[in-house]
Amino acid sequence: MAEAGKPLGAYDIAERLSGAGRRVAAVSVYRALDFLTEHDLVHRIASRNAFVPCAHAHGEGAGLVFMICRSCGGIDETTSPEIEDQLGRTLARAGFRPASRILEVEGECEACLQREAAS
Ligand SMILES: [Zn+2]
Ligand SMILES: [Zn+2]
Repeated sequence: MAEAGKPLGAYDIAERLSGAGRRVAAVSVYRALDFLTEHDLVHRIASRNAFVPCAHAHGEGAGLVFMICRSCGGIDETTSPEIEDQLGRTLARAGFRPASRILEVEGECEACLQREAAS
């Protein structure tokens, strides 16, 4: 997945792992992704139904923010403890217990903005 440099869906991954007479079932990919997601080695991008590898060893409460570029489809990851803090308080006030606290923000990435500015 790291090779692709792009978020991949479970079926894309199964497709890539298959070949040379081998067939990888999507079910086993899902199972592997579940495990990886649980251990924060991979993040699930809900709005894209895709998965991105994660090399950061951030633990709980990191305040994950994903920046999804609408132009190139790239996904960057950053962390914000401040947001995690605020969001936690806001959700607690609303009496809501989140299963995940991942923010996904759509827009244009730095590379695309620079390309745009240069043209
Ligand atoms: Zn991460
Ligand atoms: Zn971009």
